[in-house]
Amino acid sequence: MKKIGVLAMQGAFVEHIAALRRLGVEAVPIRLSGEFKGLSGLVIPGGESTTIGKLMRDYSLVDELKKLISKGFPVLGTCAGMILLAKEVQGLNQHTLGAVDIRVKRNAFGRQVDSFEIALDIPVLGCPPFPAVFIRAPWIEKVGDGVEVLASLPDGTPVAARQGNLLVTAFHPELTSDLRFHDYFLSIVNGNSKANADEA
Ligand code: GLN
Repeated sequence: MKKIGVLAMQGAFVEHIAALRRLGVEAVPIRLSGEFKGLSGLVIPGGESTTIGKLMRDYSLVDELKKLISKGFPVLGTCAGMILLAKEVQGLNQHTLGAVDIRVKRNAFGRQVDSFEIALDIPVLGCPPFPAVFIRAPWIEKVGDGVEVLASLPDGTPVAARQGNLLVTAFHPELTSDLRFHDYFLSIVNGNSKANADEA
């Protein structure tokens, strides 16, 4: 059985673990770099990107994770997780993992409408539209050449993208009972027989 780690520094890690377990995979919380061993993929959850980023540095996870990602290790980053995977971030005074060639803006939706839910058309998930929950979410301002936009808001703003084995969403798929986004991530993990944390 594939084992997926969920970074458990801060934020919505419990919900991701529950969603993955409902899909029948082994899902474990990760706090130390030694725990990457044996994983076939990792989720970086939503939460506070400044806090998660600081703890990742304090616990010396950054270099190890960058090395794994450079070898094709699959990672799903949701909300703050997307911020931490992005190459460029507006509104964050710290380094990210710099892995996905996108520029994102933190807290992009402003205060009045900083949380909302919308039925989002995500072609790779098929029908019906996906219930996307946005909580003080970032949005994607710019995508590089190797990045595929998977979903956009009705005004055209990209809110989910894929670059190779890296998947990012501005919204929180773990906060709904719809498991199709996690299932899509698992299809990337399953298609990636070679690169896992043991071979890096
Ligand atoms: N606003 C948060 C940040 O900038 C992200 C919010 C979330 O992950 N739900 O880190």
